[in-house]
Amino acid sequence: MKIVLATHNAHKVTELQGILKRGLGNHELIGYDGPEPVEDGDTFEANALIKARAAFAHTGLPALADDSGICVDALGGAPGIHSARYAGTRDDADNVDLVLRNLAEQHATSIPQRVAQFVCVAAFVWDGGEAVERGVWPGRILDSRVGVAGFGYDPIFKPDDAAVSAAELTADQKNALSHRTQAFGAILPAVRAALG
Ligand code: IMP
Repeated sequence: MKIVLATHNAHKVTELQGILKRGLGNHELIGYDGPEPVEDGDTFEANALIKARAAFAHTGLPALADDSGICVDALGGAPGIHSARYAGTRDDADNVDLVLRNLAEQHATSIPQRVAQFVCVAAFVWDGGEAVERGVWPGRILDSRVGVAGFGYDPIFKPDDAAVSAAELTADQKNALSHRTQAFGAILPAVRAALG
């Protein structure tokens, strides 16, 4: 059976192919090039469901989606659901600069003041129902960028369970720990139960 992956973000597609390759058995993950819905939910859960429902409605195939971002305690949980467009430009470098600038303005220099979490919510929509699961990857925001792998906020995120920044981890190392791995690992039983 084909399962459509409801994202246009190439970085997420690559990560999810790595994360899901063993768990989906004979089901085939295919890309989605249909219309992108307006993500106007006010939670990660709502936005993940909006994306999965849109892909299911457009293709008629069971659909997986994620909504994800980084939540910085000292910034009141921002960028949160606005992570992709935090600086208004949809540019990763601008987003990272703005987080660092906002933390500097708060004089948030100590490790406890720089606590943050990556959050990912996976949504699955099929003709028999809907499922959502959340993954959280705790860590802190570094003083400046370290590492060049990954995407988005990876260079300024130091996971609690790694010795280096998320952008210094290999793809396999990140996939062993990440918020995305946790969320999709938790949703796989629902996928397998729904599709056999
Ligand atoms: P979404 O496509 O609306 O879910 O936006 C997610 C945004 O959150 C991305 O554009 C990144 O800026 C950020 N983000 C989510 N997951 C990660 C990750 O694993 N590493 C770095 N940034 C991430």
